[in-house]
Amino acid sequence: MHQYLNFINGEFVATGKTFENHAPVDNRVLGLVHEAGEREVDAAVGAARAALKGDWGRMSVVKRVELLYAVADEINRRFDDFLQAEVADTGKPLSLASHIDIPRGAANFKVFADIVKNVPTESFEMATPDGGTALSYALRSPLGVVAVVCPWNLPLLLMTWKVGPALACGNTVIVKPSEETPATATLLGEVMNAVGVPKGVYNVVHGFGPGSAGEFLTRHPGVNGITFTGETRTGEAIMAAAAKGVRPVSFELGGKNAGIVFADADFDKAVAGITRSAFENCGQVCLGTERVYVQRPIFDRFVQALKEKAQALKVGPSEEPGVGLGPLISAEHKAKVLGYYEKAKAEGATVVTGGGVPDMPGALAQGHWVQPTIWTGLPESSPIVREEIFGPCCHIAPFDTVDEAIALANATNYGLATTVWTQNLATAHRMAREIEVGLCWINSWFLRDLRTAFGGAKASGIGREGGVHSLEFYTELRNVMVKL
Ligand code: NAD
Repeated sequence: MHQYLNFINGEFVATGKTFENHAPVDNRVLGLVHEAGEREVDAAVGAARAALKGDWGRMSVVKRVELLYAVADEINRRFDDFLQAEVADTGKPLSLASHIDIPRGAANFKVFADIVKNVPTESFEMATPDGGTALSYALRSPLGVVAVVCPWNLPLLLMTWKVGPALACGNTVIVKPSEETPATATLLGEVMNAVGVPKGVYNVVHGFGPGSAGEFLTRHPGVNGITFTGETRTGEAIMAAAAKGVRPVSFELGGKNAGIVFADADFDKAVAGITRSAFENCGQVCLGTERVYVQRPIFDRFVQALKEKAQALKVGPSEEPGVGLGPLISAEHKAKVLGYYEKAKAEGATVVTGGGVPDMPGALAQGHWVQPTIWTGLPESSPIVREEIFGPCCHIAPFDTVDEAIALANATNYGLATTVWTQNLATAHRMAREIEVGLCWINSWFLRDLRTAFGGAKASGIGREGGVHSLEFYTELRNVMVKL
């Protein structure tokens, strides 16, 4: 049986304690994950600290950048290994993982290598009271040992989105992948060794959150900063752990994102866009749209069109051609999503389509499948409209005015993303200005330029990563003032 080992100081490390990793498509056991205890986490932190003082800490930026390019090239050379590992762990369609997860996983190393190589630091000349001058300039040094705590929905992509800039800035990292998706982080250990990244620079510890590797890592005093993607309430626990020693955090958290469609939108593009934002990755995307607001003149037509798109989505296993919807990640998550499906019915929602479990043949019947689901008719106070479900579902409500659309979009504690569909430039810019989010897409969704800031407002996060913004978290800026 396959064994998922920890990766500490360049070695794959077994522990006496294992748990099973299951495939979401049919619940078969994929292998055994070796859970890291306090001893292994301590060893990983020790290795990461030592690496900061070793070859890695002394390496020139040029050499570091070359190594990160080699990491990206090696991921691409082993593209199929990463692809198979990712789809086995997540059950997502092969077409999705091969176009987004793996290529972006590799690109994250090159993009941040380029940024670190090219970005200047500031410098100011100033007149001094004695008639002379002084020159200030800034130096960047690495933050140190960075803990990277990851979710399961886009495992390689979201992990490298943090490991790429952290390493580019000269830090060392300890990754705690989600217990649901241990494979690609482990595989990346092989890549690091193959291209000659020094021992201790990249480490992986497996396990759960509380009472396990996640907690041991985030409370470890040898960790200088924590970057985390996951649920808002997990963020609260990690922030409490980080308070000891006042260590900085960078948080990308949950959302309950609004999609707003105006009557003047390009109808077909808006329907296609909301189909993606509601159902891609089986709705397990933090940026996804679970609240859709459609201007009244096109409301009925839009609901009908989205229903047709949802019903046309082919549900099935990753490798089957034409599949648009995979399973949810786990039995536990399926129970959570189906709980919301039941609650919607109990609250009197109109179930436009879905609301249950599709019939799957043979072994697939053991998988974590749910139907893509659309509701209308619920009040804004309903938990279906307020809480993050993280499944392939959305509630659609009508609106009349721009003011109303802004108020509806903002009536949430979250503030991650929004997608707005209109052909009126003034409306688009007003929405962008007034909706309280970190990311606003106009006539698009999940279109990313990695040089731009990424993150959430309100309960959806702390800080921004992406482009030079990542440097804000992964480096310490030192000002040097020289009296001339
Ligand atoms: P999660 O919070 O349950 O788990 C994320 C990671 O945190 C896992 O590795 C888990 O083991 C670890 N963890 C859990 N409790 C911990 C603790 N007390 N201390 C330390 N580590 C702990 O999230 P998930 O279910 O894996 O992912 C889904 C969530 O992630 C959704 O809420 C989604 O919106 C969010 N998400 C946000 C973004 C973003 O960019 N804002 C991106 C993807 C996912």
